[in-house]
Amino acid sequence: IGPRQVRGALFTWVRPEKQKEPELLAVSPAAMRDIGLAPSEAETEEFKETVVGNKIQGWDEETLSGPGYPWAQCYGGFQFGDWAGQLGDGRAISLFESTNPKTGTRYEVQLKGAGLTPYSRFADGKAVLRSSIREFIVSEALNALGIPSTRALSLSLLPHSRVRRETMEPGAIIVRFAQSWLRFGNFDILRARGDRALIRKLATYVAEDVYGGWDKLPARLADPSNPDTSPEPTRGVPEKENQGPLGAEENRFARLFREIARRNAATVAHWQAYGFMNGVLNTDNTSILGLSIDFGPFAFMDNFDPAYTPNHDDHFLRYSYRNQPTIIWWNLVRLAEALGELLGAGPLVDDPTFITSGVADDSTAEPLISRAELLIGQAADEYKSVFLSTYKSLMTSRLGLLHQHSTDFDSLLSPLLDTLEALSLDFSHFFRRLSSLPVSEIATPDSRLHHAAIFFPEDDSLPDADKPAARQRVADWLALWRERVVQDWGSLEDWGSSTGAPVSEARDAERMAAMKKVNPNFVPRGWILDEIIKRVEKEGERDVLRRAMHMALHPFEESWDGRVFDGESYKGDEDEEVRW
Ligand code: AMP
Ligand code: MG
Ligand code: MG
Repeated sequence: IGPRQVRGALFTWVRPEKQKEPELLAVSPAAMRDIGLAPSEAETEEFKETVVGNKIQGWDEETLSGPGYPWAQCYGGFQFGDWAGQLGDGRAISLFESTNPKTGTRYEVQLKGAGLTPYSRFADGKAVLRSSIREFIVSEALNALGIPSTRALSLSLLPHSRVRRETMEPGAIIVRFAQSWLRFGNFDILRARGDRALIRKLATYVAEDVYGGWDKLPARLADPSNPDTSPEPTRGVPEKENQGPLGAEENRFARLFREIARRNAATVAHWQAYGFMNGVLNTDNTSILGLSIDFGPFAFMDNFDPAYTPNHDDHFLRYSYRNQPTIIWWNLVRLAEALGELLGAGPLVDDPTFITSGVADDSTAEPLISRAELLIGQAADEYKSVFLSTYKSLMTSRLGLLHQHSTDFDSLLSPLLDTLEALSLDFSHFFRRLSSLPVSEIATPDSRLHHAAIFFPEDDSLPDADKPAARQRVADWLALWRERVVQDWGSLEDWGSSTGAPVSEARDAERMAAMKKVNPNFVPRGWILDEIIKRVEKEGERDVLRRAMHMALHPFEESWDGRVFDGESYKGDEDEEVRW
C-alpha cells in the first residue's frame, strides 16, 4: 500500500489501519439525523468500531468477502497556481455509500486519519486531534449557517497514537460524509495524463450519478449573449441537443460545466457573505458539487479585512478573503481545460509544459485551448452573475431588508464594508448587533451617535482622538440604513412619504426576528477553537465538545442551555461565568 503513481484508475481499494482502544469523543446529532441514524446508535459498540475503521461494514473479515470494501481516491491538483502532480486521498478512506431512507439522499461516508494509502506521498496518513476538532466543528457550523459543506459525523481519539508534527500530538479520526468527494483535481490528473477516455467516464458519472441525470442540469444550450442567470435556471434536456458550435454529447458536457460553475459561484457567494475563508483553495480542494471542502487553516473573519488570509504560507494573498471568487473561477478554468478534452476529436496534448503554461509548443494544441475557451466563454458571465445575485440576496437579508434596490450595493453595502474595514470592526458582531437595534431608537442624529457605541468593543482599541469621528461614521451609516428599513417595513400609508415614516413596533420586531435568523450569534472563530482544543487536549474535558457542537448547530440562538454567549465569554444563569 506504499505511495505510488496510480494510472488508469480513479481509486484504490485500501483497508483502514486497526486502532487500539479508540475513544468516541463526540458526534454531531444533526449529522446522525441527516445520514439516517438514531442518536442512540452512537452508543453501540458497532458504531464505535465502525467510526475508526476497526469494523468494515459490508465486509466479512473471516471469509474475506462481502459486497463492499473501502477505497481511496486518486486526484491531482494545482497548488498555489502550480501543477503538483498526483495527490489523492492521502489520509482519507471511504467506507461505503449510504442512503437516508427518509430523504433519499445518498452520502459517501469516509474516515480521515485512518492510515496510509497509495496517495500518502511522504506523509503518515494520520490526523492530529487539533485539526480534527477544527474540521469536526466547522463542517457542521457551515451547514447550520446554510453554506454548502461536507459534513462531520463523529470524532474519535486514538489514545495510543502519537503523531509527529512540530511536536508529538495525539491522533484522531473523524468520520465525514458528502454527496460526493469528487474535486476538480480528479479531472486535473486525468488531463495531465492524457486519459481522455477516463475524463469522459468521470464526467458522465458526475452528470448521471452525482447530479442525478442530464435532465437535472440547466436546460438551455449555451448562448453567451444571453446567459441564463436566474438563481434557479430551467432544468431538463434541451429539445435539440445538437445545436450551436457543439455536437449533442459536447453540449451535454458544456451543460455539466455550467452547473458546476453555478454551484461553486453560489457557495463562494455564501463564504463572502459570512466572512468564511477556506485558506487553501487549490483545485484539489474545490468540490465538483460546490461544497466547502478540506478544512485546513480556514477562518471566519473577525475584524473586517478583505486582504486577510488565514494561511501563513500565503505570501501573495492568493487565498485571501477578497480573492476567493476570483480563485474559484481560476480553478473552474482548469476544469474547463480538462472537460475541453471532450469537445471535438483532436489529438491529446501530452506536452507537460502545456499543463502549467497553458501554451503548448505543439501546434495541435491550439484547438484544445479554443475548446476550453468555448466552455469558459459560455460560463464566465453566468458565474459572475450567479455569484453576484446570491451574494446580494444574502446581504439584503443580513441587512434586514425585504426588497433589493439597484442602488443598495453602492449606496448602502459598500459604505458599510468600507466603514467596517476602516474602523476594524467585527464582521459577524456588526450584523448580529444590528439585528437587535430598533429603528425607533435611531431616529435622531444624537440617538444614532449614542447607539453607534454598541458596535465598538468595550476595550476600544482605537486611539482616543479617533473615537468621536469613528462613532460619527457609524452613526451616519445608521441613518442610511434606517431610511431603507423604513422604506421596506413602514406601513403602507406611509409608503412614499418622508423618510421619517414610522415603522410599527410589531413590524420592527418582525424585522429583528428575521435578521436574527440570518445573522449568527455564534461562528467558530479561531480563538474559540483554540480554547476547545486546549481543554480537550490538555485538560481532558469532553463536555466542551458537545457544547461547542450544540452552538455550531444552533448558531442563530440568543442563548444556549440558558447561557448567553456575548462574543467574549459564556455567561451562566448561575453566578459562575463560563469561560470559553
Ligand atoms: P491538503 O493540503 O489538505 O489539501 O492536502 C494535500 C494532499 O496531501 C492531499 O492529497 C492529502 O491527502 C495529502 N496529505 C495531507 N496530510 C497528509 C497526511 N498526514 N498523510 C498523508 N497524506 C496527507
Ligand atoms: Mg486537500
Ligand atoms: Mg487538508
